Amino acid sequence: MTIASQLTAIKSQLPAAASLVAVSKTKPLADIMEAYEAGQRVFGENKIQEMTDKFEALPKDIEWHMIGHVQTNKVKYMAPYVSLIHGVDSFKLLKEIDKQARRNNRVINCLLQVYIAEEETKFGFDESEIQAVFQDSELEKLTHINLVGLMGMATFTEDENKISSEFNHLKQIFDRVQAQYNQLENVNLSELSMGMSNDYHLALSAGSTLVRIGSSLFGQRNY
Ligand SMILES: *Cc1c(COP(=O)(O)O)cnc(C)c1O
Repeated sequence: MTIASQLTAIKSQLPAAASLVAVSKTKPLADIMEAYEAGQRVFGENKIQEMTDKFEALPKDIEWHMIGHVQTNKVKYMAPYVSLIHGVDSFKLLKEIDKQARRNNRVINCLLQVYIAEEETKFGFDESEIQAVFQDSELEKLTHINLVGLMGMATFTEDENKISSEFNHLKQIFDRVQAQYNQLENVNLSELSMGMSNDYHLALSAGSTLVRIGSSLFGQRNY
């Protein structure tokens, strides 16, 4: 299977309300260009240095999504160009993104990462911490960020009922915060980033609008 044919196959399974983030981490420029030439414009990376190198080398109409854990001191390297940061997991990080966006005369779109899996290693907020972010009186001062949604990862398991219930839980949290906070100036919740190669069908059934797919599109990664 070629990357172009995999791309077509995956996109044919997406409902109109959902779009694909092609996760190109560890993959060479040639693989990204193959997907690009087949029409893909949104790519996801999990390391800022690697994403920046690829941004510099590749066509400028690519939208780069940071899907990995972000260290505060590295935000400045992607602030000039990043299109969406999926994994915002602290208020401190949100403030740093705002500061760097301001320096670049940009507004940077962000998703808050919600902790839905049972594994202890996953980053993110729980629901009460999410509520606290939206209720923080400092949020309105962050005029160079735009909170456009939530992101989450399910437990790595074969148990599809468990995965579905975690995705449904995230969708419920999304619906609640959207109803409560969308009137805030820098809050425009419309994106729910959930689903990867192994579980994107379940995520789409639960209401995902952004699936992050790597290995099903580009093949297995060799680290
Ligand atoms: C690597 C990665 C993906 C893609 O994983 P695949 O299983 O290869 O589809 C999705 N989301 C995040 C956060 C990742 O780090």
